[in-house]
Amino acid sequence: MSLQTVAARIRGFICLNAHPGGCAENVRAHVEIARKGAASGAHLGDALVVGASTGYGLASLATTVFGYGARAVGVCLERPPQGDKTASAGWYNLAALSQIARESGHDVAIINGDAYTDAVKAETISLLKRRNAKLDSVVYSLASPKRTDPKTGVTHASVLKPLGAPFVSRSIGLGNDQVTTVELPPATAADVEATVKVMGGEDWELWIDQLLAAELLAPGCRTVAYSYIGPELTYPIYREGTIGKAKAHLEKTANAISAKLRASGGAAYVSVNKALVTQASSAIPVVPLYISLLYKIMKELGTHEGTGEQIARLFRDHLAPGRTPTLDAGGRIRIDDLEMRAEVQQRVTALWEQVTSENLFALTDYAGFKQEFRSLFGFEVPGIDYATPVETDVAL
Ligand code: NAD
Repeated sequence: MSLQTVAARIRGFICLNAHPGGCAENVRAHVEIARKGAASGAHLGDALVVGASTGYGLASLATTVFGYGARAVGVCLERPPQGDKTASAGWYNLAALSQIARESGHDVAIINGDAYTDAVKAETISLLKRRNAKLDSVVYSLASPKRTDPKTGVTHASVLKPLGAPFVSRSIGLGNDQVTTVELPPATAADVEATVKVMGGEDWELWIDQLLAAELLAPGCRTVAYSYIGPELTYPIYREGTIGKAKAHLEKTANAISAKLRASGGAAYVSVNKALVTQASSAIPVVPLYISLLYKIMKELGTHEGTGEQIARLFRDHLAPGRTPTLDAGGRIRIDDLEMRAEVQQRVTALWEQVTSENLFALTDYAGFKQEFRSLFGFEVPGIDYATPVETDVAL
């Protein structure tokens, strides 16, 4: 037992603690979105979500379980509570999701460990075998700063850098709410290679290879991983930077995996998703300013979606049983379509040059960005009384 009042401890783009009540409330909202947003009459048997505890992966777990009735296994790397230290947000998210699942007759199992290791893959496979699972859906939604290659034992660190020349851009200092100019040095060849190792498709393919060898994929199994493209404003740091190289590798890997699944009627897809506030995206320079402008405009136009709505739409329109995904010329699913509309991007570009520290809150939805960032960790969630002590020692 550890009853305590929990106040947010934020350092720039990192929050050191989490509020279990706020996280549970967020998960309840996810469950509602998943239930309401599902294609009617469609059902998934078994699902596996790798990176299931926060962001797009949490939305994917909620959608497959509560939207399509899947029996699911979620894999994540989260910090348990320790004494008076809270657990990480993803821990509380999955504790809450598992409880809602139990109460509503759904079956969700969680494996907490490093998904890049052979040990966690083996543990997941043996759990799936004990459950006699045949996976209809495998969602791959990892975002991580590092990965140890299981074959070589070498640990690679991903970096967020431009290629070729330094990139100078406007950005927000999340510690002091000031508009700043950041200069990012260009990546070395080793930086690119390391980022591809971490955020490219190698580990996704290893997962599918091992699931395939263990005969755990149902005929017609669909697997999806998430990518981002975004506007030209962010190309130097995203699409044409180190992370973009990794995403290009991920997209190429989808073809390789599809070739392996074709015989059993399955396929691998990359879905290009919208820029949204998550723990991963907040750490990318320039992106918080872009997201603050994007939110302002998309909320005004009534086209704003969160991770829950995005993934509900991904399954409803593309991946639910019986649906045929619509692909772009590059073979990708595009649920960033509303973000990329010309009207939205023209308005973002027009405002981009006008933003200063003085007008940041008036011209952009930086207030919304900050609120959403805090809410990722269970803080500033409507309906939660933060003065009341909560149990932080929650089991997963
Ligand atoms: P996130 O930080 O919210 O989630 C990352 C997940 O990965 C968490 O569940 C975490 O526990 C898990 N994880 C990290 N390292 C792990 C490890 N070693 N072992 C097991 N689990 C581990 O990130 P997100 O923004 O939801 O990103 C998920 C995917 O979506 C990424 O591929 C990202 O590039 C993509 N994407 C994100 C955005 C965006 O704006 N946030 C947009 C498009 C695509």
